Amino acid sequence: MTFFVKLFFMKKLIYSEYFEKVNLERDHFWKQLLVKVSSISSKSSDVKGVNEVQQIIAELCLKMGLTTELIKNQVEESGDLLIAQTKGDYSKYITLICHSDTVFELNAQRPIYEDSGKLFGPGVIDDKGGMVVALRSLYMAMKQRVDTSTGIRFVCSPNEETGSTGFHKIFDQLKNDSDYILGFEPAIGAGDVILGRKGNRWYDIEFKGIKAHAGRHHQNGLNACSELSQQLSYIHQLTNYEVGTTVNIGKIDGGQAHNVVSDCASAQLDVRFNTFETKEHVCEQIEESLNQSMVESICGTKSVDVSFEVVDDCPPFNGVEESEELFHKLKSIYQSKFKKDINYHVVGGAADINYFSSPGKKLIDGLGPLGEGMHTENEYVDLESINTRSLAVTELIQQIQKGVI
Ligand SMILES: [Zn+2]
Repeated sequence: MTFFVKLFFMKKLIYSEYFEKVNLERDHFWKQLLVKVSSISSKSSDVKGVNEVQQIIAELCLKMGLTTELIKNQVEESGDLLIAQTKGDYSKYITLICHSDTVFELNAQRPIYEDSGKLFGPGVIDDKGGMVVALRSLYMAMKQRVDTSTGIRFVCSPNEETGSTGFHKIFDQLKNDSDYILGFEPAIGAGDVILGRKGNRWYDIEFKGIKAHAGRHHQNGLNACSELSQQLSYIHQLTNYEVGTTVNIGKIDGGQAHNVVSDCASAQLDVRFNTFETKEHVCEQIEESLNQSMVESICGTKSVDVSFEVVDDCPPFNGVEESEELFHKLKSIYQSKFKKDINYHVVGGAADINYFSSPGKKLIDGLGPLGEGMHTENEYVDLESINTRSLAVTELIQQIQKGVI
């Protein structure tokens, strides 16, 4: 991790009195921790609130004996990214990811209360419950450590709800030695997990032509709006629902008035895909088209200038094939430990785990606790599932470390 020292400003960390006294062996501690972090308002844009949560979690990581760092965002204003990992030199890691921010405004902060085994409150399941399951699993796996050459890493984003902007390069670096990536977004239904999330690429496109009077000098103009409409009508039909590829023209702009040959236009495109292959295929077609203008001057010597920029590039997470074995191990842990069956799902929206995805990696998301109502006033977490999920994930970590998977 020393390369971060050169690249990013970091705070010096020490843990407070609170963590000197706590007993991590007790179920009660983990419930208290969930209540403590959930009672802090931490909307992604609330830097102070998010960092308060990150600080508490960083102190706990120190208490657990992990190498712990808080990294400033160099791109936009946000809380700090927390990275903690087991001490020592490892060539590969099991990386646990979660986030400390929520979607709730400060004035929407509601009281945290417990009712019939459920804890209600903003962010209790998305993703503060997930954070607690990840930390507890990490703690138990470290305590009952099996002989291993695989380290464990904990990554907690301060701005996942807004796309973790500013930290994608770091995720990309962490991905290199992360052979197994476990995501702690909330479970689906009665404990199901997520084995796939679509990726997306966003394009900003600019069209530059030549302005002219639409009556007198029509032939002298180069119409940027015409180029835009021809390009986009081609690109839009690249949608292919069968393979899960969609192209959406999200926004267009251009031109001046009825009687002016327009010299400028712009568009914003959202492209989504299930796999690296389908991504490559559709993006190649889009870029090939954009590299060849369709509107030319009448003598054929000039054409509309088309330029584009990729403003977001989130890889697809597709674990259905490569992570199936890992999923089946988890399924059998659930069957033997809790006499319960779990399944997996593939979902549309991206999450931080997408940035850790690449061929050969094994990933599972949705390992957070059970509950309902994420992003609503009815959000709750099933408290017992914090314990069961942690036990199952601990065993999964141990089986990976033993080389069973
Ligand atoms: Zn979340």
